[in-house]
Amino acid sequence: MNIRTRLTVIFFALFAVLLSIILGAIYYFSADYRKEDFYRRLKNRAINTAMVLTDIKEVNADLLRRMEHNNPASLPGQYILIYNEKNEMAYHSQGLPVVNVDTALLNRVRRENEIAYHGDKFEVLGFMVNNRHHSFAVIAAATDVYGLDALQNLRHVIIITFFISMLIVIVLAWFFAGRVLRPISAIVKQVGNITELNLNRRLDEGNKRDELSKLAQTFNHMLERLQRAFVAQKHFIANASHEIKTPITVMSAEVEVSLLSPRDEAYYIRVLRSVLNGLRGLNGLSSRLLMLAQASSDEPELNFDVIRIDDVLWEMKAELLKAFPEYVVDINFGMNLNADHLALDGDEQLMRVAMLNLMDNGCKYSDANTVHIYLESNTTQRLTITFKNTGKGIGPDYIDRIFEPFYRAKNATLIKGSGIGLSLVHRIIQLHGGNVSVTSVPGHTTEFIVELTVHKEDR
Ligand code: ADP
Repeated sequence: MNIRTRLTVIFFALFAVLLSIILGAIYYFSADYRKEDFYRRLKNRAINTAMVLTDIKEVNADLLRRMEHNNPASLPGQYILIYNEKNEMAYHSQGLPVVNVDTALLNRVRRENEIAYHGDKFEVLGFMVNNRHHSFAVIAAATDVYGLDALQNLRHVIIITFFISMLIVIVLAWFFAGRVLRPISAIVKQVGNITELNLNRRLDEGNKRDELSKLAQTFNHMLERLQRAFVAQKHFIANASHEIKTPITVMSAEVEVSLLSPRDEAYYIRVLRSVLNGLRGLNGLSSRLLMLAQASSDEPELNFDVIRIDDVLWEMKAELLKAFPEYVVDINFGMNLNADHLALDGDEQLMRVAMLNLMDNGCKYSDANTVHIYLESNTTQRLTITFKNTGKGIGPDYIDRIFEPFYRAKNATLIKGSGIGLSLVHRIIQLHGGNVSVTSVPGHTTEFIVELTVHKEDR
């Protein structure tokens, strides 16, 4: 069942119940009123008759019968019976009795003082009338022709009203459900037209206030994120191809030139060295790309353990200095730092890559080949590691995109690199539930600040 049909059915059912209750109540109270009113009138008529019979000496039963018969105020089919204390009939109306009166009925009237019931076609009322000397049981019956007619008419009106109202409700509910759902249908249609080729399309956000407009806005935000990711992916592939193609082109050109004519041994050695360099660069790039791909996968393979970040830093410093003896890595520990602050939950292999990259960059982009590392902690839970170096720094136009793969700032023009390192660092720190940020004052200092959660014994 689609939503439109479901809404219509719910609306219909609710209205049917509500209308039934209202119309039912109207009918019930009208029927009740008719009965009460009729019994009241019947009783008045019967009391009148009984009073005339018992109080006015000059009137006998025959005269009273005639008076009653000719009285225009008599009720349709009115028949009155009056019994004395000995259950002897003291009076009865003209014609055939319409109600069977026996001793049990009279006793009941005496016992209960007043009874009323609906006999066959007649409403019957029995009650006691007492005067100074006697007490009479009066049984009065009549048909409420007009009242029952009116009630039947009301019943017809109610049934017709009910069905017409329900018909109108179905039509209106169907129409309004359609109207309410129209924006959803529009959204469905618009979304259906969006493919990977036109991710720049956006949904109509309507009045920007109601829920559907909020849905469209949320969808548009999602499209924006998707588009960004898609563009980043495209750039990534283009950049990766470029990074791989450039050294390959350079190497093939060198080899082609050397093959043009016979060369001396020194020339070949120079070319081979250059090719080896290029191959090493390509090898480094491919392993970084592989690592980035692994770290960025939905379920990266992580070997989490308790690691000591100070050990990692010392080891990476030693490794870096082996490759670049001219580099200076200055590691400083904050005053209030103790061993507990240096233990982290993490993947040691990945953490080594992140720390090495930040250390290497600090020296590489520093005008003095020097990086200063500060470990601090203001709380028991977080450790901050700052990598600080002087140098050209990163301009404000570049700094927002510095963690994107292959993105390099202006200060890197003359420095070797591929632009993969920081994106790898960012992803690794993210996988450790930490945060990495950068501040740079061009021409002065650049700081990369890594925040990590320290290991908790009871965790
Ligand atoms: P790569 O160093 O291979 O270019 P990275 O991803 O490590 O790639 O760095 C991206 C860019 O960020 C660098 O090209 C450089 O412009 C800038 N950068 C990174 N680290 C520093 C730093 N410590 N000081 C100044 N600039 C930096």
